[in-house]
Amino acid sequence: MAGVVVVFDFDKTIIDVDSDNWVVDGLGVTDLFDRLLPTMPWNTLIDTVMGELHAQGRTLRDVTDVLRAAPIDPYVVAAIRAAYSLGCDLRVLSDANCFFIEAVLDHHGLRGCFSEINTNPSRVDADGRLRIAPHHDFHAGPHGCGLGTCPPNMCKGQVLDRIRASATAADGARKRCIYLGDGRGDYCPSLRLAREDFMMPRKGFPVWDLICENPGLLQAEVHPWSDGKDMQETLLRLISRVLVEESTLLPLDCKLESLPAAVQDGMPMPLGVKN
Ligand SMILES: [Mg+2]
Ligand SMILES: [Zn+2]
Repeated sequence: MAGVVVVFDFDKTIIDVDSDNWVVDGLGVTDLFDRLLPTMPWNTLIDTVMGELHAQGRTLRDVTDVLRAAPIDPYVVAAIRAAYSLGCDLRVLSDANCFFIEAVLDHHGLRGCFSEINTNPSRVDADGRLRIAPHHDFHAGPHGCGLGTCPPNMCKGQVLDRIRASATAADGARKRCIYLGDGRGDYCPSLRLAREDFMMPRKGFPVWDLICENPGLLQAEVHPWSDGKDMQETLLRLISRVLVEESTLLPLDCKLESLPAAVQDGMPMPLGVKN
């Protein structure tokens, strides 16, 4: 197991669209969504829209079918598989919901690559309606993050703190973290990464703009990416770097055996491979 935990946002990071908007548009309730948007928190809105779809006779199968058609870049699929096969601990950290994320990951055979999905919980009620609840129950009180870029139902920074505390290598050392995301909600965790960690913001997206406003606030190295190919190259380069740096801490005769073959052969890693 490599000493790396890779944390992926989901919408516009793993898939190339926002899953909530994709389902709303795909099932023809965009007008209702737009009308309700100013009146309630996003998380409550998606739960409400799911209720309306259920009332219209739409089934969970309809929702799943739409999610399966969500665009995902083959390079992103390859990047996730490669990171997993190099022994990284992969987690999802998303403000979507469990049902949507699992439907997509299952469809692309990626679910087994992730040790944990941190998101808004979902359940199917007795009537077959999909219910979506907040990750952080803000009715019981605020999550306490004062940054202003975190929605009331989820402070990704607080979740990241827990992930980083739980991700320790076999020798008890803290794993280094690589974080990938695009949205405003990914800004809070970027500020909590340490010097030896890496932030991979999607270039030209809200988290990138926020980072650029004051780059000195981040301790972690920043490595932007723009598309799936770029993400794959950047992520695998960083993982290889950590593996090489780890190996220099070992006695010389252990070094080669401890490194995956792809890293021994040098970069680039298996780029463009769609397993
Ligand atoms: Mg996102
Ligand atoms: Zn926060």
